[in-house]
Amino acid sequence: MTRAELVVDGIVQGVGFRPFIYRIASRLELNGWVRNLGGAGVQIVLEGPKKEIDVFIEKLKQDNPPLSEIEELSIDFSEEKNLESFEIKQSSRSKEGTGVIPPDTAMCEKCLDDMRNKESRFYNYWATSCVDCGPRFTVIKNLPYDRETTSMNEFEMCEECKEEYKDPLDRRYHAQTIACPKCGPRVYLEPNQKTQDPIKEAAERLEQNQIVAIKGTGGTHLACKTESKPVEELRERLGRENQPFAIMSPSIEEVRAFAYLNKKEEEIINSIKKPIVVLTKKPSYSLAKEISPGLHTIGVMLPYSGLHHLLFEHIDEPLIMTSANPPGTPMFIENQKIKSGLRDIADSFLLHNRQIVSRCDDSVIRVQGEKTKFLRRSRGYAPSPVSLKIDSEPILALGGELDNTIALYSQNNCYISQYIGDVNGPETFRYLKKSIDHLLNITGIKQPENIVCDLHPQFKTTKYAEELGGPIRVQHHHAHMASILGEKNLDQKIIGIGMDGVGYGSDGKIWGGEVLVSDRGSSKKIGGLSYQEMPGGDLATKYPPRMLAGILYPMDGLKDLLENYRFPYGKQEIDNILKQLDESINVFQTSSTGRFLDAVSALLDVCQKRTYEGEPAMKLEKVARKGEPLDIDLKYHKKDEKKFLDTRDLIIKLLELSEKEKEQDIAATAQQKISEGLSEIAIEAAEQNQIKKVGVSGGVANNSMIVEEIEKKLGENGLELLINNKLPLGDGGISFGQIVTAGARLVNFN
Ligand SMILES: [Zn+2]
Ligand SMILES: [Zn+2]
Repeated sequence: MTRAELVVDGIVQGVGFRPFIYRIASRLELNGWVRNLGGAGVQIVLEGPKKEIDVFIEKLKQDNPPLSEIEELSIDFSEEKNLESFEIKQSSRSKEGTGVIPPDTAMCEKCLDDMRNKESRFYNYWATSCVDCGPRFTVIKNLPYDRETTSMNEFEMCEECKEEYKDPLDRRYHAQTIACPKCGPRVYLEPNQKTQDPIKEAAERLEQNQIVAIKGTGGTHLACKTESKPVEELRERLGRENQPFAIMSPSIEEVRAFAYLNKKEEEIINSIKKPIVVLTKKPSYSLAKEISPGLHTIGVMLPYSGLHHLLFEHIDEPLIMTSANPPGTPMFIENQKIKSGLRDIADSFLLHNRQIVSRCDDSVIRVQGEKTKFLRRSRGYAPSPVSLKIDSEPILALGGELDNTIALYSQNNCYISQYIGDVNGPETFRYLKKSIDHLLNITGIKQPENIVCDLHPQFKTTKYAEELGGPIRVQHHHAHMASILGEKNLDQKIIGIGMDGVGYGSDGKIWGGEVLVSDRGSSKKIGGLSYQEMPGGDLATKYPPRMLAGILYPMDGLKDLLENYRFPYGKQEIDNILKQLDESINVFQTSSTGRFLDAVSALLDVCQKRTYEGEPAMKLEKVARKGEPLDIDLKYHKKDEKKFLDTRDLIIKLLELSEKEKEQDIAATAQQKISEGLSEIAIEAAEQNQIKKVGVSGGVANNSMIVEEIEKKLGENGLELLINNKLPLGDGGISFGQIVTAGARLVNFN
């Protein structure tokens, strides 16, 4: 007889791991015990014949529960101590082992059956869950994952729930979120709930074109019908002019009525993670055009919580489901704040009495061919780690500013937080700090001494990193490239194309169309888009015609030309802009791809005012899809041994073409030529440096046409395109990239 002591690290708490262990140990007639460790791992002691123990270990590796992920397994053999049974022990409070509890997942099929079965005690109960499904990340306060450490601690289990909870052969054995209509959290409708069925009543109010705030499992949505009237009303009340709303569709069949779904998209939209998938509208699209005005796409998700499923039993059509927050603040999650914060926005409130410990916005994914691109990696994915081999002590990265996330590294795993947002606002910044604490709590990692931030001296995250002490600073586009290297487990030099709106450059200018030679620890700019002037700084981001003026300046007849475009203060504003450019006052320099596309968008009158991030470029993409690129030559220039694409020359040529050619052809030309220019510079650099791989990242890389064009050009020259698919291409991936770079620098330093 032998004794084996095992420690399993990874996602092994809150996923039915201990009952799974209990079942295989019992079947193999092994004695011993299993318990959760305070550091998120699981400890197992087995006694019995060595042969049976080996079988156990095989089964452990192969048949582990669907939500679990084994990262590491250690085994020690010793003399047996004559244990007489197998049991599940109380959790240990000690901080041994590492790991994390899983993300929230959509209601599983079995729970859905229970909820729909009139005979079941879970019939019509919104918060039904089991070890395979339900909230985790958003209800846990501390490790180890037990009922007492979650927001379910306020609900005392009834006898029936207790019985299931204690039965190792039950699907809800040790399911910490077990709850039923007798003992669990309750939903209610405000104001003036009239019946016993608040969910049905909420559906009726939606039917009457009300806007209803719905508090779900890990966040709050604003919901309304997908017709013009309620959607316009919601835009008006939220002050959200054009930014697209996501919708929730009752079924996949319903989705097919208005959007294309390829195999990959279908697989993702249907997965247990149930993210929003950005789909292409069909010509037969008949929902309100105000949902995603001026775009060819629409973000769609399927019901994921019991509450959603019950709601759609009473309303058989898609609904708007958008995060419940006014622009610039985090989503509301506390009942009081939901009611006060949305007082002027929602007509009714469907609430419940379970606390959301940490909010988690919906994830957003776009599919390009077989590739998945995260626009936002949050619910269903965070805080699952990305495996990362760095030989370093723990590291904390604070990310950048827009679309921010934070990341935490320890023992070959990088945990990336849920979506936090634009942390320039005070409330969102507080949310960032809370998210750091939450991530430390649920991974059991101590506050790291190694802190990483962006190069931008004015970011709040930079200043906070300085408070925390001696930060490592990483340039924005280098972080994008490092995120690719980390994700692909590569440790080598690559050529990088960083395309986005804004990132603080190592020369103090605003970068965003960069070609780099990067490895994990270092990066060098070797060219990109030429610098252009941004009259009025941020105003040029908001009003694309300013960007057009900045690029064309100086030019004969510019003043007359600009009068064709919309400037809020008309001629006077144009005079001011030209004066600013003459005197170089309040004029900034940028090599941003986003700003270039904005200028083209203004030139073609596709978008003259930006109301959300990426709007002009997204609308330009829609127009370009219908066009054929025209043939024009590109001009390059060299400076300090760097090669630049002359974007002024390019925009002048586009302007000339606009007098005789079709709008969509010019839009297609602009996109193609910017791709061609950056590819050319990258290809030349790859040859000179004998590099075969080219990484492409940054928010503009979410544009499929641009990436396809680059991939084609690289392919023709025998180069391989690398692009993120585990983490966002946009700034949600910055924190992870910062960790990768910091890791490399710390290793070199030691
Ligand atoms: Zn379930
Ligand atoms: Zn109960």
